[in-house]
Amino acid sequence: MQYKEIIERIYKELEDYTGHGKVADYIPALSKVNPEHFGISVATLDGDHFSAGDVETRFTIQSISKVFTLAMVSRHLGDKLWEIVGREPSGTAFNSLIQLEQERGIPRNPFINAGALVITDRLISLYKNPKEDILTFVRELSGNRDLNYNKDVALSEIEHSYRNLALANFVKSFGNLVNDPVKVIDTYCHHCALSMNAYELATSFLFLANGGIVSTSGQRVCGSRSAKRLNALMLTCGLYNESGDFAYRVGLPGKSGVGGGVVAVIPGKLSIAVWSPELNKNGNSYRGIEALERFTTYLGISVF
Ligand code: GLU
Repeated sequence: MQYKEIIERIYKELEDYTGHGKVADYIPALSKVNPEHFGISVATLDGDHFSAGDVETRFTIQSISKVFTLAMVSRHLGDKLWEIVGREPSGTAFNSLIQLEQERGIPRNPFINAGALVITDRLISLYKNPKEDILTFVRELSGNRDLNYNKDVALSEIEHSYRNLALANFVKSFGNLVNDPVKVIDTYCHHCALSMNAYELATSFLFLANGGIVSTSGQRVCGSRSAKRLNALMLTCGLYNESGDFAYRVGLPGKSGVGGGVVAVIPGKLSIAVWSPELNKNGNSYRGIEALERFTTYLGISVF
């Protein structure tokens, strides 16, 4: 079966699959999102795009942005990265404080909030205009120059960032944060509030299916070894304490965000993004994961 038929089939099967989860409400601006949105978009290395449902409405990509910031920082730090953050699954919630105390401020991996805050902190030190530079990076990956931050969501998250600010301060107390925690939170909340649609998201992850090269422009984002490592981190840590279950069900490197987006990559072939804002108890899109599981099952292809 071809991609087009498969995603149309999945869209039909899951069109009414709502009421199983809850839209994120710990960031007030996110609670206003209509839970019924549903879109699937596939971008292939051959340059084809296949979409079903709402792939034009933009939403905030939240934690999916952590892959972009990690790519920007790991370019500069190389293996030194692993002195400031680990690379093991955490088994705890995305915003948990517990492990940080035991592990003395070295977050378990770059995708839990504590780890992403450390990455954002180093990004602020490495780049001249961090918020602008993140936008430029993602605009190049997506081929879309008018991508921007959703200011309302960014400000709403900054205003309610009690937990993330606690994480940043805690990390700082162990000496693993260089910049002012308030500044780190500002940049972090902005990149989480990057507003993209499923089509743009699928397109911008294609470099990870292509050994680190943007297929449309030929631009190298990172080396093939880095691309392998980013994919491996997504597979082992991309869905927080549901990463094992995601690998079991979907069998692909993936990354989720509390805005309801999930993106996954089949190296050598394609990337796929799904948006459905109702979240399960782990903060991952309920219908998004279901759709991705059906995608690899019907296609008969995963990384395994
Ligand atoms: N901006 C969100 C937060 O820090 C990101 C979490 C997520 O998408 O999983 O709480």
